Amino acid sequence: MKIPWNRVKIVATAGPASNNYKTLKAMICSGLDIVRINFSHGNIGEYKKTISLVRKIENELNRPIGILADMPGPKLRVRGLPGGNPIIAKNNAVLKIVTGKIAAENEFNISHPAILKALVPGAQIYISDGKIRIRVLKTGRQSVLCKVIAGGEIKQGAGLNFPDIDLPIPSVTADDYRNIKFCAAHGVDFIGLSFVKDARDVKRVKTFIGGFKHKPFIISKIERRFAIDNLIGIIDATDGVMVARGDLGVELPIERISNLQKDIIRRCNAAGKPVITATQMLESMIDNPSPTRAEVSDVANAIFDGTDAIMLSGETAVGKYPVDSVVMMEKIAVQAEKKYNFDVHIGKTVKRDITDIISQSVADIALDYSVKAIVIPTLSGKTARVVSRHRPSPMIIALAAGQDVQRQLTLSWGVYPVYSAKQHPSVVMNTVSRFIRTSDLFRKGDRVIIAAGTIDKGGELSNIIKIAQV
Ligand code: PEP
Repeated sequence: MKIPWNRVKIVATAGPASNNYKTLKAMICSGLDIVRINFSHGNIGEYKKTISLVRKIENELNRPIGILADMPGPKLRVRGLPGGNPIIAKNNAVLKIVTGKIAAENEFNISHPAILKALVPGAQIYISDGKIRIRVLKTGRQSVLCKVIAGGEIKQGAGLNFPDIDLPIPSVTADDYRNIKFCAAHGVDFIGLSFVKDARDVKRVKTFIGGFKHKPFIISKIERRFAIDNLIGIIDATDGVMVARGDLGVELPIERISNLQKDIIRRCNAAGKPVITATQMLESMIDNPSPTRAEVSDVANAIFDGTDAIMLSGETAVGKYPVDSVVMMEKIAVQAEKKYNFDVHIGKTVKRDITDIISQSVADIALDYSVKAIVIPTLSGKTARVVSRHRPSPMIIALAAGQDVQRQLTLSWGVYPVYSAKQHPSVVMNTVSRFIRTSDLFRKGDRVIIAAGTIDKGGELSNIIKIAQV
């Protein structure tokens, strides 16, 4: 079976609509690169099932598939509604958030009562993705009085956002840490961290992961005002980023989404950190077999912005057309890449180390000289990622030292990760030559750029760029 390949990567969320062998395999064969497991829903048994299905399909197709486990973080929710009955909140009515037992029909609890002490009069509280808005009138130790600004039906379990408040609770919860341990033990490739506030949140999890044999990549979800304020530090500390437009569009004015998306992507490209654009990309395909024109344009524009990956959420988790959604994303990606401004994304880089210098030079050569591919033997994946950030037109074939590195490169734009055993630099060029000679990706006469760190006869380590012809 021919597996489609395009430069931008596709992430899709598994869920009741797709968490079975047939659908997952059809999605993967349609161009899916990474399967996302949303730990806000489901249970350990279901997560284990998805992981083993993906690994089985990966094995059958002999193609690396990444697994992204998305941690819920401190998702704040409405609790304690008597009998689970909703509150009908009318405009200008007064509601009471209480820490103790509910005593009246305008009262409710929240999942993390500790945050009540951080509230101040005037602070806004958004309920159900901002559809309902209330404002704090008066604070107290046991209860907080709020006025309804935009009313509606407040249901048990509805999500809460506090856009003005730096919440006094950790971004990574005890449950998240338990789940991250599970993920490290089950070979998950990427961990999504929700509601990251600053670089310290990321570094704490990195230290935790540092203690495991298998170290998943951290994908920091940018979805809070505070994350925008601390963006540079977060990008520096993290392995990758997600523009989590769902919560971002609630925590910040929704009209700022496009500008924020562009800024986040540009900064990630410059740093060589892969970035996923997420949420509502083909939302109408949850119920319909084809998307709206605006959705098609949104996916294409994210690609033009320079995103490494585009993501499906409800479309594949609970939608009626999970496979068609992946097929559609793939088709949009193919078209968008015909109009893509290769090589212009980051321009010249700040050359901080030899890898930066090599990546810039490889991109320059690929621009001036027609080559079929850039072949990069890589121990950690770093060289492939920093070459990818220049968005060269030829395929970047990463000969990844080990399966973990290979799978983690499934997220990087334009990279085709191939498994390779760990090589000593003295033999690395032989491995590359053998790969080029035997791979059916090449025909006689094709030109390739090879970028590698090698050891010469005198035992000296050097970084080389070679242009070879098959
Ligand atoms: C988002 O908010 O856009 C997102 C991807 O996170 P979640 O699906 O956890 O809401």
